[in-house]
Amino acid sequence: MSEEIRNVIIIGSGPAGFSAGLYTARANLKPLLFSGSKWGGQLMLTTDVENYPGFPEGIQGPELMKKFRDQAVRFGCEIIDEEVSAVDFKKKPFEVFVGSPLPQGSGEVYKTKSVIIATGAETNWLGLSNEQRLIGRGISSCAPCDAFFFKDKKVIVVGGGDSAMEEALTLTKFASEVTIIHRRGEFRASKIMLDRAQKNPKIKFMVNTIIMDVMGNDKVEGVRIKDKRSFSANKSDESEREIAVDGLFVAIGHHPVTDIFKGQVELDEKGYVIRKPQGSEPTSLQMTTSVEGVFVAGDVHDLHFKQAVTAAGYGCAAALEAERWLEAQD
Ligand code: NAP
Repeated sequence: MSEEIRNVIIIGSGPAGFSAGLYTARANLKPLLFSGSKWGGQLMLTTDVENYPGFPEGIQGPELMKKFRDQAVRFGCEIIDEEVSAVDFKKKPFEVFVGSPLPQGSGEVYKTKSVIIATGAETNWLGLSNEQRLIGRGISSCAPCDAFFFKDKKVIVVGGGDSAMEEALTLTKFASEVTIIHRRGEFRASKIMLDRAQKNPKIKFMVNTIIMDVMGNDKVEGVRIKDKRSFSANKSDESEREIAVDGLFVAIGHHPVTDIFKGQVELDEKGYVIRKPQGSEPTSLQMTTSVEGVFVAGDVHDLHFKQAVTAAGYGCAAALEAERWLEAQD
């Protein structure tokens, strides 16, 4: 057990976490950042990032995250490439565990006056056998990032919510044909988004349809689909067929990475950390949570923008608020 009491521990290593690391390091708070076993967040799964300001030629996702990391380290942010296994926000100072929680386990405990939660969110994938292999090779979950690569191509968007409509509408700016494939007959999307998609001549709909697998060696070449009703009727594979496409956009939702915070900080019904006002400033300016001294930044609380640049901004804001809060404590 380390007896040192840290000023701030940052949990997470996407744009929000590293920006918080950079700002708290430059504020001389000597931050400690737990990056997780796979550091870098969702951008590590993308190829070209063309919408991050400051890189007019674009930049590879992993390269951008390496720059974030190097910049935080340059100013003294300490990084441990380990997964946080548990937190205790009921104790003061707060405790952050790595490995099996003590006293039974063999893990380590770190004590800190404040915490910035920046664990992000993960895309829900379909779980198809070829899916993980083809991510970044025709499979994507971010039309604003990747639509440009599908100029005059045929693409599929899977999902029936607002994200699927939004992804499809974005894709119509480049693709020749966009087909929304949804597993049910009714849509979860808001009426306005659904109307907009239905009115777009480039968008076609295929409902009651399940994607069975995606085909392609080096890149996506097609998908195998099946009529859902043939499942319910317990029929054999009569309805199963392949269609040729160049891209598959998965828009079946995200899940925030908040398992370790359950019971420690208030989460909404979907598991996102809730921003709660502390003190007298308007809520919209605050990165505070239900626990004083615990701040939040990035996709782990933000299900609206979900962009690297907004996450980085939130990381900066959380760091400035943590700094101000620590000063007030002293
Ligand atoms: P969502 O509303 O939860 O919709 C997810 C969709 O994916 C549902 O239609 C669901 O089908 C389908 N789905 C889930 N798991 C699936 C699977 N394994 N296979 C096939 N389909 C699957 O998620 P979202 O669209 O990402 O939206 C999340 C939140 O952000 C919503 O509150 C939304 O309004 C908001 N949002 C708003 C905007 C906007 O206003 N511009 C844009 C994007 C998102 P079922 O319907 O059958 O469950």
